[in-house]
Amino acid sequence: MRKTYRKLQTLKNLWHEYNTLVFGGVLEYVPIMLTRAKKYYGYYGVTDSSQKASMYISGHWNKPIEELRATLLHEMVHQSLHQSGEPDWHGHGDPFLREQRRIKELTGLEI
Ligand SMILES: [Zn+2]
Repeated sequence: MRKTYRKLQTLKNLWHEYNTLVFGGVLEYVPIMLTRAKKYYGYYGVTDSSQKASMYISGHWNKPIEELRATLLHEMVHQSLHQSGEPDWHGHGDPFLREQRRIKELTGLEI
């Protein structure tokens, strides 16, 4: 339990750090949940009814923090596209690929 809590805190701290360093501080904070899901590494989505956004990161694979960083940044790109009104915010088309390249240059991470 303690370990899970620390991991979640690390993710939340990283979210703030990346928001500043990678997204110019423009992202609105969304709840981040650490799950045990086996079907995804990470997920960013909105509920149909309230249109409130949440981010889920799976700790199921016990990945090292470096890989959780990449997953977090991947979901933050979806968030960024969503918040800037990009219609294809959940896809991996050109808008996503542009961000993927930019982040690779900036952080060295493959997201
Ligand atoms: Zn994705």
